Amino acid sequence: MFDLKHYIWLVGLSALAFWQLPLLTGWPLNVQVLINFFPYILIVFGVFLSLFMNRLLPILILLTLGVLNLAVSFYYTSGNAVDSDLTLLIILPVLTILLPINLLVWTWLPEKGLHRHSYSLLLLSLFSAQWIGLYFLMESFPIHWVSLLNQGIEIEGLNISIVAGVTIIVSWLLMVLKNAYLGDIRVIDRAIIFILLLMSVAFNQLAEPYAFAWLSSISVLLVVISIVFDSHQIAYTDELTRLKGRRALMESFQGLGRKYALAMMDIDHFKKFNDTYGHDVGDDVLVLVAKTLSKISVGTPYRYGGEEFVVVFPRKNAAEVKEALEAVRLNIEALVLNVKAEGKQKPPKVTVSFGLAEKIAEYKNAEAVMKAADEALYAAKKAGRNQIKLAEG
Ligand code: GH3
Ligand code: MG
Ligand code: MG
Repeated sequence: MFDLKHYIWLVGLSALAFWQLPLLTGWPLNVQVLINFFPYILIVFGVFLSLFMNRLLPILILLTLGVLNLAVSFYYTSGNAVDSDLTLLIILPVLTILLPINLLVWTWLPEKGLHRHSYSLLLLSLFSAQWIGLYFLMESFPIHWVSLLNQGIEIEGLNISIVAGVTIIVSWLLMVLKNAYLGDIRVIDRAIIFILLLMSVAFNQLAEPYAFAWLSSISVLLVVISIVFDSHQIAYTDELTRLKGRRALMESFQGLGRKYALAMMDIDHFKKFNDTYGHDVGDDVLVLVAKTLSKISVGTPYRYGGEEFVVVFPRKNAAEVKEALEAVRLNIEALVLNVKAEGKQKPPKVTVSFGLAEKIAEYKNAEAVMKAADEALYAAKKAGRNQIKLAEG
């Protein structure tokens, strides 16, 4: 899903990073010396935020950026090699390869929160193992790997080796594809596309003073902002159906003008369905019904709770939306459910009933309109289900 809102700040902050990059050395001296601390300050802030929001994967992304900064300032400071040249020939390309791989892994794995202790521990061990492994690998690095790792470095203006460059490009393309084709994309997935760009330039400009710390700071900032947006999204999205939830519905009431319609939808005989086919199959059907409902283009659907949904139609009256609701009703009726139960020949059918109401003077607010829609829904049930009833008004 292309969500312009997020690309605006992602592009804006990345542009700021690249615009200021050549100007860093013109900053006031007392600010310049602080640049090297920026990433760590932001990382600590981001880690606390993730702990508070119960998110593990952003912590691993932040720690990856933290370790990179530590390693770069330890082995390589502002163009002065602090260790032997050989160390640099190993560490820099390896870090450039590990960065995209880490970003990819820590966004692709499922987020299970911090309370799944064994999972959290496993990921943290994986994370640590690679750096400990790298530290020991440095001691006895196969010498013939060194030239392979550094191939392509000589190219004018480009300080990233071929292996590292290919890893970055492949990771970048995978993230772009993930954003374009996979559903349920989080803001952090979009941010990674920009972080990969910023950090590959950071590795390319290692020799420039403050460049690495500056670009890392902006990258960390992108992660921190993503954590906030993603948590916001989680709070407003229904876990099972991925529709907006009740909290979002109540908030949408505030923005409704003088003309709008509300529909309540309820699955027919769903209790019996659950009893016959089991609660898990019931859940699958709920997801399918929600998906069918979400195709409606004139209104915004919400999961109100249980097997009840509400559709909000801003700037529409009941007559203008009835056809769209009727289409949803028919589409749900036509769903072919891939479930079987003992002793039954035919696959089950699922149908829904609607109650529809529009804003009129009699109803003071959206809550009153919803109550009217609910009463109409009750009438639809009584009249035999699988139909739409209009509120009497
Ligand atoms: P009616 O046609 O009158 O709406 O009958 P009904 O059985 O659908 O109505 P009722 O409100 O009595 O039952 C709703 C049932 O929906 C109860 C519960 O078993 C089921 N249900 C509610 N939420 C969920 C859910 O999240 N998952 C599943 N699988 N079932 C749910
Ligand atoms: Mg119900
Ligand atoms: Mg029902």
